[in-house]
Amino acid sequence: MKKPLKVGFDLDGVLLYNPARIIRPILKTTKELLLKQKKPTFYVPQTPSEEFLWKLVHKSSMFISPGIEEIEDLVLTGEIQATIVTARFECLKGDYDKWVVKLNRNQIFKNSFYNHRNEQPHIFKERMLRKLKLDVYVEDNWDIVSYLHQSSLKTRIMWVNNILDKSISYPDKYSNLKDALKVIKQEIVV
Ligand SMILES: [Mg+2]
Repeated sequence: MKKPLKVGFDLDGVLLYNPARIIRPILKTTKELLLKQKKPTFYVPQTPSEEFLWKLVHKSSMFISPGIEEIEDLVLTGEIQATIVTARFECLKGDYDKWVVKLNRNQIFKNSFYNHRNEQPHIFKERMLRKLKLDVYVEDNWDIVSYLHQSSLKTRIMWVNNILDKSISYPDKYSNLKDALKVIKQEIVV
């Protein structure tokens, strides 16, 4: 029997539909203009009040994305092994746990990891993808996609983009999770 493809999924913006994520490119541009910052750096909440704000922002991840049934099919037919890798910080553990229970109601995810040591998200993901030896990883954040794509990882990085950063060209770009899964099904699983 063929070995299932190891596919990792980001949580916010990939498995969870997050209407607020379209504001990210605006924030990023502002940050770059103000700080002339090129390398990706992500803010880590430091105080209880900042952590509270962080939790509020993540409350906007409210819906499970269309595509979860397709993941289920691919797992049940043995074509993929699905894992969740999210860079959510320790202060979001409560909300993260709730979502994992909801998403994993049919035991489709083999494993699930979050960023409990509050590492920089791109560094955490690079480390996890290498450790888990993932064949494919589906991510929505362009800074993270470009960082992982340029790293020495063997993992194929599929980018789920949003309306505002649609103009960026990238070979593995999809407008939603469903489209990315269609390609996984057609191209990779033969
Ligand atoms: Mg994301």
